[in-house]
Amino acid sequence: MTPTAEAVVAGAGIAGAAAAYFLAVEHGLSDICIVERDEPLSLTSDKSTECYRNWWLGPGTAMVDFANRSIDLIERLTEHSGDRFNLSRRGYLFLTAEETTAKLFEQQGKAAQTLGVGPLRRHESAAHHCYVPHQASGWEDMPTGSDLLLDPVLIQQHFPGISPSAIAALHVRRCGWLRAQQLGAYFLEQARARGARLIRAKVSGIDTRGGGVRAVRIDEPGGTSQTIHTPRVILAPGPYLPEMLEQLKVDLPVACECHVKIALKDSKGALPADAPLLLWSDPVQLPWTDEEKTLLAADAATQYLLETFPAGVHTRPEGSAGNHYALALWTYHTPLLAPRFPLQWDPHLPEIIVRGLSAMLPAMSAYFAPLPKMTVDGGYYVKTPENRPLIGPLPIEGVFVNAAYSGFGIMTACAGGELLAAHVTQSPLPHYSDALAPARFDDPAYLEGCADAAAASGQM
Ligand SMILES: Cc1cc2nc3c(=O)[nH]c(=O)nc-3n(C[C@H](O)[C@H](O)[C@H](O)COP(=O)(O)OP(=O)(O)OC[C@H]3O[C@@H](n4cnc5c(N)ncnc54)[C@H](O)[C@@H]3O)c2cc1C
Repeated sequence: MTPTAEAVVAGAGIAGAAAAYFLAVEHGLSDICIVERDEPLSLTSDKSTECYRNWWLGPGTAMVDFANRSIDLIERLTEHSGDRFNLSRRGYLFLTAEETTAKLFEQQGKAAQTLGVGPLRRHESAAHHCYVPHQASGWEDMPTGSDLLLDPVLIQQHFPGISPSAIAALHVRRCGWLRAQQLGAYFLEQARARGARLIRAKVSGIDTRGGGVRAVRIDEPGGTSQTIHTPRVILAPGPYLPEMLEQLKVDLPVACECHVKIALKDSKGALPADAPLLLWSDPVQLPWTDEEKTLLAADAATQYLLETFPAGVHTRPEGSAGNHYALALWTYHTPLLAPRFPLQWDPHLPEIIVRGLSAMLPAMSAYFAPLPKMTVDGGYYVKTPENRPLIGPLPIEGVFVNAAYSGFGIMTACAGGELLAAHVTQSPLPHYSDALAPARFDDPAYLEGCADAAAASGQM
């Protein structure tokens, strides 16, 4: 018998898993086929830093509302699952040693307040303040919005280990991290409990003869192929999205950007294990000895290590005190690339990140020489020009997309899956659906305006 399905989901990363969950659990589709060419959740979705935030600075409220909705759903699932994802709410702490950036923090906090991130609270001195510190675990009862700390004494009091040069800290509160693999596994388990099937195969073709989806062809690992008859297919292929769109002759502006993170065993305690995510908002000149500078300058391949690196190096602790890691990223060079696996990265990247972090956490200098062994991995951010996901129908009847999740796919998977399922089942859509639908690119003026939106793209 030829297999059939109410819907086929192509890809079992966090986006495909969330789509299957909301279709099966919230909308009662009992015959979903999830087709994954590799292990579920193993391509990009297990490489993330697992962080979430409601901090987006526009344009408009769409991304803030989308992120807030996703965090609401994560909280709800956290309760239903018995805190399986170990949700925390330590916040993101943006730090600066520069007056101009301190002023920018205040402007951003005010702008964020109008967009729905939550209120901005100013704390001018350690003597008079009502700052509520974060908790290492748990998420309930934490404030929303942001706290602007403008006294270095107050910063040192609450965040030991931070460079004394930090004159301002913006603590954004509805942010933290969770176990992304557990969230994805939960989605898949719950969908399968409602009848969804997970098949190890590659989606190699979509039959759209007659103008709508009729069937999906899949290639199984043993070399056999089969056809699944279905009226709907959901594309959730992560970095293979450009390839799939090309096969379908659908033209959408998406590109892939390589992002790499390090995991450093913090045996010397340079990053307190109970810290929030820390982000240094100033450009950095990497610290080198005079002898090192001479050597680096002598070789054309290493001269760039003497240049100023952009703002944004960031880190968060993972694990219990004394046995924790510093996970860290720095998007100092992110060309758009056709995805290629295994991933390639700058061999100097681990050292660049560790040295860059020392601007914010001076004790990181303990790792300069010898540089300890680190785990390095990463993946591709799949991005549209204004850095918003693609969720909704494509111009071929029955084809939907749930992809282009850039660097926010873990945190927004819940609201994305919910939105995708609403499109598929023709249920009422939230107000932000148009802002995330592929059809937004039908308007050439919209694409032209993306150049401005890219500046406020919300990428960390
Ligand atoms: C270094 C790094 C740090 C990040 N940090 C964060 C963070 O802190 N917070 C956050 O929210 N996000 C973060 N992200 C982003 C997040 O990881 C991604 O947005 C998210 O994982 C994308 O999920 P996805 O399901 O779209 O893609 P993927 O996880 O790549 O899943 C796509 C799946 O589709 C499968 N597939 C593709 N083509 C086919 C086919 N033809 N047939 C069958 N299967 C197919 C693939 O094998 C894969 O399993 C980070 C990303 C990176 C790289």
